[in-house]
Amino acid sequence: ELPPINGDFYALSDSLSEEDRALQLKVRKFLEEEVKPIVNDYWLKDKFPHELIAKMAELNICGLTYEGYGCPNRSFLMEGIIASEMGRIDASMATFFGVQSGLAMGSIYICGSEEQKQRWLPKMQKMELIGSFGLTEPEVGSAVAGGLTTTAKRVGDKWVLNGQKKWIGNSTFADVNIIWARDLADNQVKGFVIEKDTPGFVVEKIQGKMALRIVQNGLITLTNCEVKEENRLQKCDSFKDTAKVLQMTRAGVAWMAVGVARGAYESALKYTRERKQFSKPIASFQLIQNHLVEMLSNLTAMQTMVFQLSKLQDEGKLTDEHASLAKVFCSLRTRDVVSKAREVMGGNGILLEHDVARFVADAEAIYSYEGTKEINSLIVGRAITGFSAFV
Ligand code: FAD
Repeated sequence: ELPPINGDFYALSDSLSEEDRALQLKVRKFLEEEVKPIVNDYWLKDKFPHELIAKMAELNICGLTYEGYGCPNRSFLMEGIIASEMGRIDASMATFFGVQSGLAMGSIYICGSEEQKQRWLPKMQKMELIGSFGLTEPEVGSAVAGGLTTTAKRVGDKWVLNGQKKWIGNSTFADVNIIWARDLADNQVKGFVIEKDTPGFVVEKIQGKMALRIVQNGLITLTNCEVKEENRLQKCDSFKDTAKVLQMTRAGVAWMAVGVARGAYESALKYTRERKQFSKPIASFQLIQNHLVEMLSNLTAMQTMVFQLSKLQDEGKLTDEHASLAKVFCSLRTRDVVSKAREVMGGNGILLEHDVARFVADAEAIYSYEGTKEINSLIVGRAITGFSAFV
């Protein structure tokens, strides 16, 4: 009798309340039964499984930490656990959900007026409206804080937006698109909610991605796109407000990376116990065990880190550098874990059917989005040294 395969080696889930543990298992069941069986097929086809949105909505996990507007008002720890559960099965679905619940709803929750929250959040919580978050531009990625070139000009009770946004997840079909643009009057970044089919707002799907293929990323072109003042996020005066949203979601990306590492470790462990060479399971070889233990060490270090990260977040003590350190460490270590998982699976490790090949590719995108390793490192570097190395 072999021991159970369990990527939660320090039993961190045991510290959850009964209610939280029940939600974790409910989400896991949905992912294992509804997502896992179809995910490689959709990944290969570069398509999004729209039929899963209604089922995901039934879990009532969207906007998990927000208060009011039909949101569950649960802890950041629980939100992290869910991001990790999603990452464990598929990073694309985790990303789709992170954009909806974190980046898009979070922008409205943090930067919107009461009226704006009432207008969009309840429907987004039920996933009747899907959101996107447009910050990055074709020529401006890491330098978004000071460098946005998309402009917004106030004309009477309207704004006229011009520019481009690249990589925008969900934007090919989203109903509600958060677009960040520089106000030509005061040179500060403002947020706008642009609804689907607004004239002057055109989205082209980005083709040929080798990672997160299920997430539909768009190149948005804004050409004299008119947006009413009532669609400008009323509580955003500058990029500092945008950064509040990113701080919250970066913590979630760290958790998602942990989930990907867990999924890869568990798949690799299962495989090595079943695969025989030299008439023995390859898991019985010392060198393979060493790889597995290295993976587990990294996974366990990451898990304990994000648990504490979420505790800080739940206590209202999370800083940009806390979130950035976890994003750097977890996306770096996950890259290592998935590559080892691939290695111990030999040639079969590159086949989609064993899931690990998908994790290897997806880890590359997680490594670079929501702030690259370098940028998040510089955020931590600035905090610990007192010197900014950005420019
Ligand atoms: P660049 O900024 O061009 O960086 C290239 C390299 O230079 C990196 O290694 C970087 O770390 C390094 N570098 C840059 N500046 C410095 C410096 N000062 N010091 C040291 N090194 C530096 N954006 C959105 O707004 N919404 C989304 O929904 C979204 N989804 C995405 C989904 C995917 C799959 C991907 C890949 C990206 C997504 N992005 C999204 C964009 C993402 O946030 C950017 O790709 C990221 O911020 C990096 O920008 P860049 O790709 O332009 O790289």
